[in-house]
Amino acid sequence: MAPRKLAAGNWKMNGNLAALDEIDVLIAAQPAPGCDVLICPPAVLLHPLKARVGDKAIALGGQDCHAKASGAHTGDISAAQLKDAGAAFVILGHSERRADHGETDAVVAAKAAAAHDAGLTAIICVGETEAQRDNGQTLALIASQLDGSIPEGATATNTVIAYEPVWAIGTGRTPTNDQIAEVHALLRERLGGRIEDAAQVRLLYGGSVKPGNAAEIFAIANVDGALVGGASLKAADFGPIIAAL
Ligand code: PGA
Repeated sequence: MAPRKLAAGNWKMNGNLAALDEIDVLIAAQPAPGCDVLICPPAVLLHPLKARVGDKAIALGGQDCHAKASGAHTGDISAAQLKDAGAAFVILGHSERRADHGETDAVVAAKAAAAHDAGLTAIICVGETEAQRDNGQTLALIASQLDGSIPEGATATNTVIAYEPVWAIGTGRTPTNDQIAEVHALLRERLGGRIEDAAQVRLLYGGSVKPGNAAEIFAIANVDGALVGGASLKAADFGPIIAAL
């Protein structure tokens, strides 16, 4: 059986309490059976968002967590704190964190292990830069990022992989369907060496997903949903993407 489809919204450093009104619209438009919806707002909005969502079928997630369970780490947030605030998922190793905070594969793997320990599902991001694609390094780079970023103990339940080409994020550009299919096939095959139930691991595509291209992207082999940035901020955009799952 194919994994359940997932539309994950990554609000990044956008939104405020007033922006939560968008969620009421999304709650009204429930996803099809077999499909899941996830919103990853800034951490300060998790708790109020949880109150809005209540027991409706929208999961919440953080955008990062610390690798340690607690302690003297000013400004950081632990996986258990995300869970306490209502999160079930956490995005890890997004290219913006790898670039802005120098996160290596080893750091991402340590954070993912912490997320698993806290009972969160880790959405581990991988993706090449434009220069790496132009130099023909994409598949080797993705393989090594995947190998290095997945912790021991990863399962199809506690781990989701997101393929996000850096050059497609926020640019309006997307890879061809064949390019997405090629990377997702590699991810699926490579996961087979690491995770027992690799066929059930959800593989998301991310990078300039919008209402106009979502259905086509979701139809690509081994694409089990999307990680959506800009188009997740407004229900008028995210709603049709959810409907396309
Ligand atoms: P985008 O961002 O949809 O705005 O391109 C995707 C992401 O970075 O997760």
